[in-house]
Amino acid sequence: MIVDGGFVTTPPPTPPYQQQPPLPYQQQPPPVPHPAYATPPMPPQPHPYGGPVPPGAMPGGATCEVCGAAPAAAVTVRGHQGMLVIMRFLRRQGVFCRPCGTAVFREMQADTLVQGWWGPLSAIITPFILLVNLSARSTLRALPEPTTWGWRPPLDPGKSVMRRPAGLVAAIPLAALALVVLAIPVLFVIGLVAGDDPPEKLSVGSCARNDGSWSAQDLKPEPCGSSGAEFQVTEPGAEGCPAGDYLAYPKYSADGVTTLCLHPVGR
Ligand SMILES: [Zn+2]
Repeated sequence: MIVDGGFVTTPPPTPPYQQQPPLPYQQQPPPVPHPAYATPPMPPQPHPYGGPVPPGAMPGGATCEVCGAAPAAAVTVRGHQGMLVIMRFLRRQGVFCRPCGTAVFREMQADTLVQGWWGPLSAIITPFILLVNLSARSTLRALPEPTTWGWRPPLDPGKSVMRRPAGLVAAIPLAALALVVLAIPVLFVIGLVAGDDPPEKLSVGSCARNDGSWSAQDLKPEPCGSSGAEFQVTEPGAEGCPAGDYLAYPKYSADGVTTLCLHPVGR
C-alpha cells in the first residue's frame, strides 16, 4: 500500500505468477581449457618391458598387484606352520597375474610342505591347506599369460612344487598320510569280513553257551563239564523240540538247514 498526499492508492494488481515464455533448453558451451593448463596428448612411449602394448589389451581390467600386468585374478593362497605346541596360519590374498600368482602359490605350497607337519594338529591341518590351495592354482591356470605388461617384470614362478627339495621332504609325511587314508577302507573291509565269519557248527550231544541275547543268537561250543555250558544240543524229534527247549538257528547245524534243539543245562 502506498500513501500519497492523503490518498491511498493501490498499485495495479500484477499477476502473481507471470509465466515466462519457455526458453529452449540450451546447452552450456563446453569450457575452453586455459592454454596454460591444457594437457597435451601423451606421445606413445616405448614400454620398458615386453615391447609394445598388444592391441587386444583391456585397459580397465584388473592388474597384478605385484607387477601391474594384466589380465589378473583375485586369489587367496594359504600356508601353515606347525611348531609342536603352537601353529601359525598364513594367508596371502591378492590380485595376481599368472606368473606372479604361480610364484606365490608355489612358494607357500613348498613352505607348507616343509613347515606344516610339525605338530599333532598341524599334521591334520596341513593336508587340508595343501588341498585348499589347489583351487587357487586352478584359478591361476585358467588365467592366460599377461597380455599387458606392468611397471616391472612379473615374478619368476620357478620350478613346480614337487620338483623342489620341499617336494622330497614332504614325500615322507604325504606317503604316511596316503597309507593312513588307504588303511581306513582296508581295515573297514577286514572288519566286515571278520564280522561275517561263518559260525562254528554244533553237533548233537555237545554243549554250547550263548554270547548274544536271544534276539541276536551267538552260540559258541562249550565243553559239557564246564560251568560256562548253558545248553546241550539235542536233535529235534518228529514234533520238534521238547517243551522248554530253545531253538538254535539252522546255521549252527552241520547241514546249515536243520533247527537243532537247545536243552538248558541243569534242568
Ligand atoms: Zn604379476
